[in-house]
Amino acid sequence: MGIFAKIAAGEIPSYKCAENDEFYAFLDINPLVKGHTLVIPRREVDYIFDMEDDELARFEVFAKKVAVAIKAAFPCVKVGQAVLGLEVPHAHIHLIPMQSEKDMNFANPKLSLSAEEMQEIACKIYQEFSK
Ligand code: AMP
Repeated sequence: MGIFAKIAAGEIPSYKCAENDEFYAFLDINPLVKGHTLVIPRREVDYIFDMEDDELARFEVFAKKVAVAIKAAFPCVKVGQAVLGLEVPHAHIHLIPMQSEKDMNFANPKLSLSAEEMQEIACKIYQEFSK
């Protein structure tokens, strides 16, 4: 099992932001901004565009709900969405609260946040998602 599948299964710790039977959302460990979240299918699939149409549609709808929760927890202009997948071979959507397009630059230095801060951020998003 790959690292993200283990995270979704609870075998590796993560800062959980949202979940349902099929999908899981957690904080990116190297965030570009506070609230930078990854959304994954529990099922192991590497390339997002290898997903079947109906699964991909449900994935995007789940990501939308997470984005709404992120925007409520961390007021921003919009939540940006990006798919790279160059590092971890498990399909994932980056959701990033944006104040400007600069926040979507993956070459930016990453934030260094304490475990307590990460937990607090994840809790805020989880609470909004659960409303
Ligand atoms: P990419 O595959 O290029 O989209 O990059 C993978 C992303 O996953 C990077 O932003 C990493 O910081 C993030 N990442 C890698 N391992 C973990 C982990 N164990 N928990 C949370 N985020 C991770």
